[in-house]
Amino acid sequence: MISCTQAVNQLWEYLDGTVDDAERGLIDEHLAHCRRCCGELEFARELRRTLTDAAHDDLPDHVLHRLYRTLEELEP
Ligand SMILES: [Zn+2]
Repeated sequence: MISCTQAVNQLWEYLDGTVDDAERGLIDEHLAHCRRCCGELEFARELRRTLTDAAHDDLPDHVLHRLYRTLEELEP
């Protein structure tokens, strides 16, 4: 199974539907077993909705803070 980092790194492509079927299958399999990444997926969906609604340089502070914290947590 792919690692959490690999899964999260591909979440954007996954949400955009730009991953190929093999990659999508690997991510689906990981998300089915990993509660932590399911949380990341919800976060990514929420962030993506915010990015769609707002200019990229006008993100709310709490969204930026959560993004940075998530990225820090993903560092090995
Ligand atoms: Zn995971």
